This record gives sequence, structure tokens and C-alpha cells, in this order.
Amino acid sequence: MQYVSTRGAAPVLGFSEVLLAGLAVDGGLYVPDSWPALAAGGDGYAGRAAAVMQPFVGGSIDPDTFLRLCREAYSSFRVPEVAPLVQIGPRHHLLELFHGPTLAFKDVAMQLIGRLFDHVLAAEGRRVTIVAATSGDTGSAAIEAVRSCASVDIVVLYPHGRVSEVQRRQMTTVDSPNVATVAVEGTFDDCQDLVKAMFNDAPFREANSLSAVNSINWARVMAQVVYYVTALEALGRPASFSVPTGNFGNVLAGWIARRLGAPVERLVVASNSNDILTRFFETRRMEALGVVPTLSPSMDIQVSSNFERMLFEMNGRDGAATAVQMRAFRADGALSVSDAQWDEWIAPVFRAGRCDDAHTLATIAKVHAETGVLVDPHTAVGIAAAPACGDGDVVTLATAHPAKFPDAVERATGVRPALPAHLADLLERPERTVVLPNDLAAIEAFVSSHRSR
Ligand SMILES: *Cc1c(COP(=O)(O)O)cnc(C)c1O
Repeated sequence: MQYVSTRGAAPVLGFSEVLLAGLAVDGGLYVPDSWPALAAGGDGYAGRAAAVMQPFVGGSIDPDTFLRLCREAYSSFRVPEVAPLVQIGPRHHLLELFHGPTLAFKDVAMQLIGRLFDHVLAAEGRRVTIVAATSGDTGSAAIEAVRSCASVDIVVLYPHGRVSEVQRRQMTTVDSPNVATVAVEGTFDDCQDLVKAMFNDAPFREANSLSAVNSINWARVMAQVVYYVTALEALGRPASFSVPTGNFGNVLAGWIARRLGAPVERLVVASNSNDILTRFFETRRMEALGVVPTLSPSMDIQVSSNFERMLFEMNGRDGAATAVQMRAFRADGALSVSDAQWDEWIAPVFRAGRCDDAHTLATIAKVHAETGVLVDPHTAVGIAAAPACGDGDVVTLATAHPAKFPDAVERATGVRPALPAHLADLLERPERTVVLPNDLAAIEAFVSSHRSR
């Protein structure tokens, strides 16, 4: 299997190279050069995962090794099904994706990615430093994924005083020599700008072998295709999915599952008040506005970067056309699609819904009153939007554990959700972090010293 850039002007790469590269050199995102048919076989979640993903890995990793890496990754989950279905209505299920180490669905991909990085780097005798900016969930998922890796160091930047206590402690209480966290005196955008500046500083990037595991990494999308397939197999009939959406990574994985042949009916793109995608589905025009903070912070985004992969498909896989459109979007902050593209790609599959904070709290309360199940604010946005898919069975992706956002859940229900046993003493564990100014030189000096340890 070979990978091509959505902007058509980067070298064609194999799976291992795409894993480590992240973004393509032409600014595009890597996608498989063709879509295989859904593979059969594989026992249990890990076995099924290895079978579904092996065509995308191709010759880069031999099947026995890949199966072992999948088994190791998914043994870190607290339930044997990894992603169990829970019924909340006559034809409505939740797909619980939060049973991994950091209580959010990002673990499903990250637990595998850490092991893939370590395997590929060890085979090549290389070592990298991952630098990441986080507003909450990504940082802890990345840290848990690489804390045991021999070939990876990680430095996570988070905005000082602006992440929740549970989120901060999940990052700062990890006691591994290859893990460091920095509280930056600034906002999440400042943290992201610092990471971008480190990558743009070519001598620094080379000297420290910088790498990234952000949401545009192909391997993350690939690993998320699996649970759409296993959910439909467990259900035993076709279904639609409602997906709490930020960067469009998760819902794109649903589209890929459908493209491979899984019986996915419709996909609901569920947004909070940061609704660039919902507005796109209403107006056929993508327009970036400012970001407002909400109760579902992991969906507080201005632009959904993974949408570029969908656009590439809508352009008949024409990279040059996609590049022109993305450049125009960057320049004008707006992008439109043709009626023909709409009718062929969007109308048959995608629906959209938005849910503001008041509706989010009301949904958490309603689900609790009717079923006794506590859901987190991100999952609540998905549940609220689910009716947009129309008739039939619907599965809402439950993307975070309620105990990760206890304040909102308690506000809605009066019940404070308890942390699972492995995190029960989180609030007592010693923290390790440094506070640094929003200053590139200071951050780069820290990253270099972390690496040389
Ligand atoms: C990251 C995240 C999302 C958004 O997922 P995307 O793939 O960016 O669309 C939704 N819910 C939670 C809890 C998350 O951590």
C-alpha cells in the first residue's frame, strides 16, 4: 500500500514513513492510493483490528508483528470488548470508546500509535522527540501511549491554569524519564504556535529529531475505522452513527469504514456552538469564525483539518484541485463545493446537528433520568444530534468518560461521577511540571535538555 498527498505534490510514501511524517511536505495530508475491500477474519477486538488494518500497513510491518502490537495496545483497556455497545433507547446505542488509560476515545488510536512508533524507530535505529500542544485530552493520551517507549521522548505544552485539574494531573503525574510537561504562560493557541515555530526552525527540528502525533496523522484515522466495523458486527444490522466532532478525524474514519464496505448508513456530524461543519452542511459553504469556549472543550475548534481528506475524494482525488481550494480557504477563510459534489458525496451520507451548552446539560440530565447512564458533555452533543440521521438504528460514539468532566455532569444531574479505580488516587499523586514563559528560546532550551537526559 502506498500513500499520496491530498495536495498531489509530495513524494509517494509507504506506511512506516507516513506514520513518522505526519503532514506531507506540500502541506497536504496522506491518504491511501486506493481503498481496499473490508478484510474478513480476526478474533476479538485486537484480532479484528489487525485484520481490518493490515491492508493499510501493507509490507511495512509483517502480519504476526502487527497482530502482536494490536494485542498489546488493546490489552491496556479496562474491558475485554475494548469498545462495548450500551443501549439507551429502542434503536439507540452508545459505543463506549473511553475505557482506555486516559478515559477518552483518543486512546484507541494512540495506544497503537505509540507501539507502532517504537517498533518502526527501533527497526531503523532511530530516536525521536514528540512535541505536542494540548488543550486537554490529546496530551495525556499521547503521554500514556509513549511512556514505555524506548525510542521516543515526549514534551507536551499546555496552557498554564487553563486545563481542568483531572486533565492536568493525567499529564503531570506520569513518572517516566522520557515524559516532560510544560505549563506555558499563555493560551492553547500560544502553545500551538510554539510547536509550529519549533517545527519551522529547521536546525532545531533536525538536531532534536522532532516528530508529531496530531490528529492529521493517518495512522490515527486508520485505527478509528476499526470500531465502526466491530460495532456493526456486534449489532448485526446496518446502522447510522452520530459523531461528536472537532477535527473531523473520527467521522472521517466512519466514512472510510463505509467506503470499505461496512454497512454504515448515515453519519451525523455533531457540533457544539463551534459549528463550522454544521453551518457547512446547511449552507454548502465552509467559513471559519472565532472559537468560543464550551462544556465540550475537545470540540472547540475553528477549522476541521481532516476535512481536507474528504475534499480530496470530492475532487475525484485530484491533488492539484484540492491544493488550489485549500490555498483559497487559507486566504479568504471560506470555501464552497459544487452542486454536483454535494449530490454525489455529501447528500447520501452526511447529516449535521448542533448543540449548545444549555442543550448539552439538558441532554445529560434527560439520559440520566431515562436510563440511569451518566454521559460526558461531548457524548451528550452526539446524543442530541442523533435524530438528524432519520429512521433506523443509530449508534452515538461516547468519546469521553463522564468522570473526565465531572463538573458539567454534576451540574446536570446532581451526581458526581467517580474516577475508575486505576485513577482513584489521581488527586493525591505528586505532580511534575515546569512553568515557562511564552518564549520560543526558553521552550527550545527545555526541549533540548529533556532529550539529552
Ligand atoms: C478529540 C475529541 C473529540 C473530537 O474528535 P475529532 O476526531 O477531532 O473530530 C470529541 N470528543 C472528545 C472527548 C475528544 O477528546
